[in-house]
Amino acid sequence: MSEIIEPLRGMNDMLPDEARWWNRLETVARHVFSQYGYREMRVPLLERTQLFKRAIGEYTDIVEKEMFTFEDRDGQSVTLRPEATASLMRAAISNGMVHNQRHRVFTIGPMFRGERPQKGRYRQFYQIDAEAFGYDGPDVDAELILVSARIWKLLGISRVRLEINSLGTPESRAEYREALRAYFTAHEAALDADSRRRLVGNPLRILDSKNPDLAALIAAAPLLTDYLDPASREHFDALKARLDAAGIGYTVNPRLVRGLDYYSRTVFEWVTDALGSQNAVCSGGRYDGLVTQLGGEHTPAIGWALGMERVVLLMQELGLEACADLPHAYFVLAGPAAASRGLQLAEEVRDALPALRIETDLTGGGIKAQFKRADKSGAQLAVVIGEDEVARGSAQIKPLRGGGEQQACPFADLAGRLASLIGSAAVDGDGAARQDRGR
Ligand code: ATP
Ligand code: MG
Repeated sequence: MSEIIEPLRGMNDMLPDEARWWNRLETVARHVFSQYGYREMRVPLLERTQLFKRAIGEYTDIVEKEMFTFEDRDGQSVTLRPEATASLMRAAISNGMVHNQRHRVFTIGPMFRGERPQKGRYRQFYQIDAEAFGYDGPDVDAELILVSARIWKLLGISRVRLEINSLGTPESRAEYREALRAYFTAHEAALDADSRRRLVGNPLRILDSKNPDLAALIAAAPLLTDYLDPASREHFDALKARLDAAGIGYTVNPRLVRGLDYYSRTVFEWVTDALGSQNAVCSGGRYDGLVTQLGGEHTPAIGWALGMERVVLLMQELGLEACADLPHAYFVLAGPAAASRGLQLAEEVRDALPALRIETDLTGGGIKAQFKRADKSGAQLAVVIGEDEVARGSAQIKPLRGGGEQQACPFADLAGRLASLIGSAAVDGDGAARQDRGR
């Protein structure tokens, strides 16, 4: 036998039991996006390295040490996307979506960062991204936060809280940057190697450091809030008023700077106390300068990215629901005539009850072994069809959970009988929309 090939570090397989949780999150998110008029976009996983260098910034963790970058066959440098915003804005510019237009979009998919893998931090991980471009805010800033809040609400997620801050304009930030540079220069001996490099390149990035030895020094640094320009302050106050009016609780965290260079004004992060140090579950902000930085016409924009692994961990931690995927009914088909008639009947029931999940036993094995599998499948009912049943034109329905009598059911009545036995929830489907109506 050959040697088994293991997956790469930080890259996970998602098995069916796990996928149920992801489907639930994705179903709810898609539903909420449709409620607010956000439309889906899909962009490539691989882009020119230059895109991320220019968009995310040279002095960020991502560009300095986390990108999966390699040369393609033509010798050009390409990078697996570490985040979606740069690609989405590149696509918006490439496809003429930014000039005098407004769009609200979302995308869902994998991102790649060469980080040290740990719980809630992987090398391939998934994000749900929402972006609105062509809007100055602050109304759209508030709406985007409401979209994320509604996703929590529909999933039933508690133990998340919202932190917000304003980074001001690039001009007001320049003044602050010099104040920070002076402060950290005075304490240069206490800085680590990363921070010393950032002191020259972009001292704001020092605030984003995860080195605990620097925490006290960072806590005593000058505050960006004291350097905000009047228009940014007004924008921030208006956002807070919108959130207050919508009943969304938040705290202003003047130290929140976010890991990417392209943000301006509004930044926010949903954090949880349930996942240890990987506490950010959804982060976002306004990036009014990005589109021009990428060669497009000036287009104000804002977006957020939700880390799906972390939200799924949180759903599991909180004991929330995953998508139901166990079969409602399991068809036990004993004998060649039953195998053929059974498949046909299962198709008829699927036509009549599209939301019902039916698993058919395709092994052609003995009835006892099939019953074992029926039980193990988690189905509520077994529909048994043997040669006798085919001859009589009538199946046996046997409850597998919660008692109840076995009963005969003519083939012609099968769909109706299953609908009444299994109940309306299954027959209506169990998507996010029904849940939403129920609240
Ligand atoms: P962190 O501070 O935890 O490194 P970040 O600031 O790098 O997060 P963003 O670039 O804003 O994160 O990405 C948005 C969201 O994606 C984060 O809030 C988090 O939920 C998730 N995320 C980021 N990096 C990873 C990763 N390596 N593995 C899993 N999820 C991640
Ligand atoms: Mg990070």
